[in-house]
Amino acid sequence: MINIFPNGNNFGDKMSPFYMIDYQPETYYEPSEKKRGVNVHPHRGIEPVTIVYQGYIAHADSAGHTGVIGPGDVQWMTAGKGILHKEYFEDGFSRKGGYLQMMQIWTILPKANKFVEPNYQTLLKDEIKTVILNDNAGAVRVIAGSYSDEYSQVKTYSEMNILDVILNKAGNIQITAPAEYNMGILILSGQVELNGINAGKEQFVLFENEGTTVDISATEEAKFLVLNGKPLNEHALHKGPFVMNTAEEIDQAFEDVNSGKFGYLEEEKV
Ligand code: MN
Repeated sequence: MINIFPNGNNFGDKMSPFYMIDYQPETYYEPSEKKRGVNVHPHRGIEPVTIVYQGYIAHADSAGHTGVIGPGDVQWMTAGKGILHKEYFEDGFSRKGGYLQMMQIWTILPKANKFVEPNYQTLLKDEIKTVILNDNAGAVRVIAGSYSDEYSQVKTYSEMNILDVILNKAGNIQITAPAEYNMGILILSGQVELNGINAGKEQFVLFENEGTTVDISATEEAKFLVLNGKPLNEHALHKGPFVMNTAEEIDQAFEDVNSGKFGYLEEEKV
């Protein structure tokens, strides 16, 4: 797993309302009878978004949601006031072995919505609104927010767009957003030119809050993720699985987990 940001610095503030991206590039896993993944752990104050490109991931949480997501699918979890969950390789996939490629993004809940009820939404590949670009340039999957005249069905608590883009060789796209929006682009594969600057596989490009348009051309077929959104302008304090606004709220979160306020979820036997 590669931590794309905040990566040990204060970079997260430059990407608010996004706090973090962890990215697992394509990795082969041998067949195994062992459980692989992350056992029961809490979250509060964020919405963890999981995008699977290859492989199968199973989810279960203390609010009673379960689900499996595979290639092209997205899981949008609202931790809100507190949830316990576990994230595992789906059993059949783990036994058979295969390639896993996935990403987890943490979006920050605004102060006013930190304590909303936990929720879970699965966006299956076929349900994700997709814009086919003119001139065979490629396609845009609208995971959150909108692109052109397509709108994601995901409810977000602040203004943001998450776009999963494929550009064919020589394809071109313009992404526009208000100058105040924070914006970053993670290249998953291929080579692109972003406002005249070259970027390639696993590079993350952070934009200044200047101008409103990013012009992207693929010098070879490319896949990349665009994140942009209105900055929350609230201090984001991160500790462990929590992103809150104050140190007191972080302490309270640990206390509430320990006293059982996040509910119950059975541990996987590993
Ligand atoms: Mn988690």
